[in-house]
Amino acid sequence: LRDRKLICQIIPFENRRQILVTHDATESARIEEMRRDFIANASHELRTPLTVIVGFLEIASATPDLDAASRAAHLKLMTEQAHRMQRLIEDMLTLSRLESVDYPMRAEPVVIAPLVEDVLQEARALSGGQHEVTASVDGPDIEGSAEELRSAFANLASNAVRYTPPGGKVKLSWTNGPAGPQFIVSDTGIGIDQRHIARLTERFYRVDKSRSRETQGTGLGLAIVKHVLLRHHATLTIKSEAGKGSNFIVTFPATHERATLPR
Ligand code: ADP
Repeated sequence: LRDRKLICQIIPFENRRQILVTHDATESARIEEMRRDFIANASHELRTPLTVIVGFLEIASATPDLDAASRAAHLKLMTEQAHRMQRLIEDMLTLSRLESVDYPMRAEPVVIAPLVEDVLQEARALSGGQHEVTASVDGPDIEGSAEELRSAFANLASNAVRYTPPGGKVKLSWTNGPAGPQFIVSDTGIGIDQRHIARLTERFYRVDKSRSRETQGTGLGLAIVKHVLLRHHATLTIKSEAGKGSNFIVTFPATHERATLPR
């Protein structure tokens, strides 16, 4: 029972006997701790850009004759920081929606080819021609939420571009694997050391904070992916080697299991 949080209560019973009631509160304590951590992390993430914005506003009001070039530079930085806050808030809202019991997934037939094509075009735009970004679609259509799947696939594709130096390759593929349909994103990027892999889908967990920020990351992308996949009974496998590249493999249930998807 070590490491478990037990709540014990003694209740008087007839004939001066007593009943000892124990309740294992380990799971609720863990959830409470995660909630506290999330609030602390989110506040910290929002405070950083806000501090920059407030700082520049103070400079601007204390310096009425600020020259046009400095004013323009300050406005540019403030806009960047405001966009960072916007991205964070969008991702936090998406996550809380995905976790909400009041927001059940609406499963519908999803035609995969145009969805992957959209994600491909978005990844190419993000790469700005600096990577070779390709896609191949050779798998069945599935049931699920097109909007959620698009967002999960786009997160994986954008990570592949963001964590691959210019000149590298990013490949998206939709295939029919032995366990069920698979969406695979492979890159020849910086890769991930094994010790980080199990924690990557935790909110705000990043291997390298500054690289994530430089490339406009919120630290919530893979947490969103995890929740979308949970709702689709799909799994995420991450295979990576530091310095060589990564494979993010999403496996959906085989056809006969998909018949039981919630509607
Ligand atoms: P972020 O916004 O920081 O990219 P994510 O939740 O999407 O947040 O990813 C969490 C962390 O996982 C990233 O900060 C990065 O360290 C690592 N990561 C994700 N995808 C890749 C990838 N394709 N290659 C290398 N590292 C990655």
